[in-house]
Amino acid sequence: MLETLLNTGFDLSSDALRPFLSIENLYYLLAAFFFILALASLSKQKTALQGNAFGIAGMTLALVAVILVSIVKDTRGVIITIVLMVAALVIGALYGLHKAKTVQMTEMPQLVAMLHSFVGASAVLVGFNSFLETPGLDLADATAASENAFHMGEVGLAVFIGAVTLTGSVIAYLKLAGKISGKPLSFPGRNFINLVLVLAILALIVWFVNTRGIEGGLLPLLLITVLSLGLGLLLVLGIGGGDMPVVVSMLNSYSGWAAAMAGFTLGNDLLIITGALVGSSGAYLSYVMCKGMNRSLVSVILGGFGGDAPKGAQTSSQATGEHTEITASEVAELLKNSKKVVITPGYGMAVAQAQFPVADLTRKLIGMGVDVKFGIHPVAGRMPGHMNVLLAEAKVPYDAVYEMDEINDDFEDVDTVLVIGANDTVNPSALSEPNSPIAGMPVLRVWEAKQVIVFKRSMGNAGYSGVQNPLFFNENTSMLLGDAKSSLEAIIAAL
Ligand code: NDP
Repeated sequence: MLETLLNTGFDLSSDALRPFLSIENLYYLLAAFFFILALASLSKQKTALQGNAFGIAGMTLALVAVILVSIVKDTRGVIITIVLMVAALVIGALYGLHKAKTVQMTEMPQLVAMLHSFVGASAVLVGFNSFLETPGLDLADATAASENAFHMGEVGLAVFIGAVTLTGSVIAYLKLAGKISGKPLSFPGRNFINLVLVLAILALIVWFVNTRGIEGGLLPLLLITVLSLGLGLLLVLGIGGGDMPVVVSMLNSYSGWAAAMAGFTLGNDLLIITGALVGSSGAYLSYVMCKGMNRSLVSVILGGFGGDAPKGAQTSSQATGEHTEITASEVAELLKNSKKVVITPGYGMAVAQAQFPVADLTRKLIGMGVDVKFGIHPVAGRMPGHMNVLLAEAKVPYDAVYEMDEINDDFEDVDTVLVIGANDTVNPSALSEPNSPIAGMPVLRVWEAKQVIVFKRSMGNAGYSGVQNPLFFNENTSMLLGDAKSSLEAIIAAL
């Protein structure tokens, strides 16, 4: 291709280049096809690795096509384009590799939030660039004039969604990383101010679409940017740390729509398809998370959750009785005498990195003829699929892993349940206490088993929602206090 370029003296109208330009869309279509295959494969543990491979293939194809198209179309000269692209690629790849190598599994939500802020920032930059290249024009031809107005509308929307995503994601990152308080910022009229901001931004977009030239459009575009940045800040500052993972998933969806808008302004079909895939899958993920927590999307957006517990709710400091402690060797003895064991992991398994001893224990018990299954709550951990990823990493057999709905009716027949670092997802008060902050959240009914062993570091800390768990004080529950990894290793040693 480069040779053809050199031969034609970079004449873009040359017939020799036409075959490449006409297959540009074919590259994009193929890349989009790989992205769809990736999403479909990632939805199942068994095919997730293959999904990653499809994603990498699609992204490589997309990058190669975009780079070649840019070289062909760029009028500034091939050298400067190549230098800029290579510099961007090297910086991005080095930073990505560094992050992927150093990030802890428990820090994934904040990493994802930070990455969304990049998508938001690029949508804003693309919007500005596109406006500076093609501002509002006075065109006699009606079709061209309406196309130009449509383009201006896309730019306005891309900057709006991109800027909200940018500041919203930065705040989500700061809250999740514990760099600012996770408490929701509430003040009278907060939702009203947000509504006024949205209406003002929409009015500014209408003004922007009707401007002519760079001088005319720059002021409304700058105002759109400032107000949208402010809206992103206010929206996410008002949402409590408790809802932050849902917010991250919503911002994921916004970043997809921002990318799709950028695709329209750049006339890039692949970006439109990819943005729509991210936008819709992010929206669906938010829905799944809200369902798993019995929260509505509207109540998450309106914020306020994650502040003080409602009146009547039990807090972590309020104990609800005497708890019984157990030792690792006693648990080993109990497991030896069990026929059916269910393991319900939670966020604590991720914190302790206990998935490997969990997998060892599972193999050992299966070897001893014990029937071992895993019960996974849809929002166990801090991301949907968090537990599945960890268990897959430790090579726990897929067919032993069950979703909550598949296993919840079986607990009555189970001899021993091992609750490994789970709390809210096994809290019976979600079903029995209407005043609890987690009232109505579906939970794993582990207490129906003959014996429950809870792995936890101390009796002082509550789960994510901050409410006490009556399960710990049941007669058939015993607490194995200590770091989950060490406790599991001690059980394995005793077995
Ligand atoms: P929780 O966050 O409720 O509880 C974690 C438990 O693990 C605590 O009991 C903690 O007790 C224990 N723990 C922490 N570290 C260790 C360790 N090293 N060794 C042993 N135990 C440890 O966990 P769940 O997974 O049950 O619940 C997830 C929560 O997150 C739910 O409230 C859910 O709504 C929320 N959430 C989840 C999302 C998702 O997509 N997965 C999204 C949004 C919210 P201690 O500190 O005493 O050790």
